[in-house]
Amino acid sequence: MLADKDRIFTNIYGMYDRSLKGAQSRGHWDGTADLIARGRDAIVQEMKDSGLRGRGGAGFPTGLKWSFMPKGDDGRPHYLVVNADESEPGTCKDREIMRHDPHTLVEGCLIAGFAMGAHTAYIYLRGEYIREREALQIAIDECYDAGLLGRNAAGSGWDFDVYLHHGAGAYICGEETALLESLEGKKGMPRLKPPFPANAGLYGAPTTVNNVESIAVAPTILRRGAAWFAGFGRPNNAGTKLFAISGHVNNPCVVEEAMSIPLRELLDKHCGGVRGGWKNLKAVIPGGSSVPCLPHGICDDAIMDFDWLREQRSGLGTAAVIVMDQSTDIIKAIWRLSKFYKHESCGQCTPCREGTGWMMRVMDRLVTGDAEPEEIDMLLDVTKQVEGHTICALGDAAAWPIQGLIRHYRNEIEDRIKHKRTGRVSAVAAE
Ligand code: SF4
Repeated sequence: MLADKDRIFTNIYGMYDRSLKGAQSRGHWDGTADLIARGRDAIVQEMKDSGLRGRGGAGFPTGLKWSFMPKGDDGRPHYLVVNADESEPGTCKDREIMRHDPHTLVEGCLIAGFAMGAHTAYIYLRGEYIREREALQIAIDECYDAGLLGRNAAGSGWDFDVYLHHGAGAYICGEETALLESLEGKKGMPRLKPPFPANAGLYGAPTTVNNVESIAVAPTILRRGAAWFAGFGRPNNAGTKLFAISGHVNNPCVVEEAMSIPLRELLDKHCGGVRGGWKNLKAVIPGGSSVPCLPHGICDDAIMDFDWLREQRSGLGTAAVIVMDQSTDIIKAIWRLSKFYKHESCGQCTPCREGTGWMMRVMDRLVTGDAEPEEIDMLLDVTKQVEGHTICALGDAAAWPIQGLIRHYRNEIEDRIKHKRTGRVSAVAAE
């Protein structure tokens, strides 16, 4: 288990003072100007050496992303945009940072902003996060009053402003280019890439969009050193990570743990175990609603990191672990996700606009068993036609949960169809 001394987020449960004074007493904003004095290249290199991979879902190396920002000055401003849209079902980790430990994020903005040559950061906050906005705004105001933001921020010689922008509640605005569109006051629709935001992002200027957690861990990584952070987790999966565990565990929670922790240890140590015991586990969605589920058999040995879960054709995503016990109707659970993605599709590209609707309507019938057995493969085929054929990853996010369902629970789907026709329950359904 991760030792308390190695936790980056020391007030994630809101037990202590979250004000600037409280944050400083826990070591935040300590020597920030000295960190900045190391210089842009040194900071980016340290982030690369730490092995930090983006905490928003895709797992792209953070230091590398920062290094894509142009070095020269072509007259355009640079922007840091923090993605605080956190709208994926099951994902609720960034909100704990924002409402209980907001100074980790604000200090991270200053350092990351400097490292990419930006004088301005925008934090794009999920529409429903009212309390989080209030807490964050208070923290930002405190920083301005204390000289930690604004001109010569924290005595670093770097001018830096942070603005909060409140979204209106659309899931698609969590996609980085849709987020930029929304920030510019347009409809939140993803852009075609290239150009990538590092070349032409917000208002056509070089921009880096990072997840809240990725930015909030940066100051501690720089203070304690890349080697310290890289010491957690398996190679290529470095660091500590916030896991958000929900569903059928005895104590759902958000907890910071070392990357590559076994799933079973995570659930037993921090969540009081699966409801009714480990044997009662049916499936786990390990990384937020868009990744394929894992059945009990795979969960026994599951390791919670990017690479292990990808090898199982699932993913770590946002590390939002949704636990389902034997009482779960897994077909209905995945149907609910299909309905979500259908609702949230921006409608811009045909495979997603039409495909999410098709998939949901077939799923409607699989839930009740009112389908032909051939439709299972037909549905799988549709998911393959949506996957990888859309402008943004929402198409994949809609396809993957269904692929996981068919891969691991085909028997259950077939059985339900048979049962509907014959009225008999087979051995599979009776288990
Ligand atoms: Fe919009 Fe879906 Fe296309 Fe993304 S994949 S741009 S959400 S229609």
